[in-house]
Amino acid sequence: MRIILLGPPGSGKGTQAQLLVRRYGIIQLSTGEMLRAAVAAGTPVGLKAKEIMASGGLVPDDVVVGIISDRIDQPDAKNGFILDGFPRTVPQAEALDELLKRKHLKLDAVIELRVNESALLSRVETRVAQMRERGEEVRLDDTPEVLTKRLASYRSQTEPLIHYYSERRKLSTIDGMMAIDEVTRAIHRQLLALGAVEPKTHARSAAKSGPAKKTKTAKKSAKKSPKAGKKTTRAAKTVKKSVKKAGKGAKKATTKTVKMAAQRTAKKAVKKGAKKAAKKVTKKRAKR
Ligand code: AMP
Repeated sequence: MRIILLGPPGSGKGTQAQLLVRRYGIIQLSTGEMLRAAVAAGTPVGLKAKEIMASGGLVPDDVVVGIISDRIDQPDAKNGFILDGFPRTVPQAEALDELLKRKHLKLDAVIELRVNESALLSRVETRVAQMRERGEEVRLDDTPEVLTKRLASYRSQTEPLIHYYSERRKLSTIDGMMAIDEVTRAIHRQLLALGAVEPKTHARSAAKSGPAKKTKTAKKSAKKSPKAGKKTTRAAKTVKKSVKKAGKGAKKATTKTVKMAAQRTAKKAVKKGAKKAAKKVTKKRAKR
């Protein structure tokens, strides 16, 4: 199986890639990791990439394409791989298509992890603060300032890949804001639906993390639903009762109003009658 994980920095690609590696026995190819190793080893590629990486920019396409092409040829990549952080530009995606074609390999899926950018920034801020508190070394490009730049380069250079792969019917989008295990389950379900993994893998791993199992929330809501149904019926009854009451009230009110109006008219009539009678009496007296 060969898949690409697509998503902005901090979206959880690395975490998901590691979980998928354990589940399917394939390898993770992270260009970021490879470049960091090259920087640490002081290789020519590392020397080229060091500054660019520290500033949050992108390393030239030919450099990363070369690294990936060599890595795919290694025996441990035979079973398949998860590309994490590659491709990051349309030319890289085109180069990957070419490269896979040449090697007679098929790409099974591109999984996009969609996340909320402001949530990403606060996540990174918290993580960096915690690491500093523990006295751990913070990655040079993992600061909120550099992350803002990396997000901008994701938007302008990497996001067009969403269109690229959706046009080629390879794209599956998953809500990356869910809990880690829920994201893993969603990815697994997607891969099953695409036929990229065997249902067997599903059964084996189901014992461990249980993608087919109902989540606690699902179970809770399933349990809740009959009650919820009862609640709805009860509510409906209450509504019916109040409608009836309201009807009666309205009837009462109408009758009352009509009665009062009739009384008023009667009183007026009595007054009018009395006035007329009084007038007649005065006229008669005047005649006399
Ligand atoms: P990552 O660990 O994937 O976030 O990558 C860390 C840094 O490595 C990025 O900010 C880039 O500077 C560089 N990098 C990683 N992958 C690529 C790529 N596919 N194309 C260009 N630069 C990359």
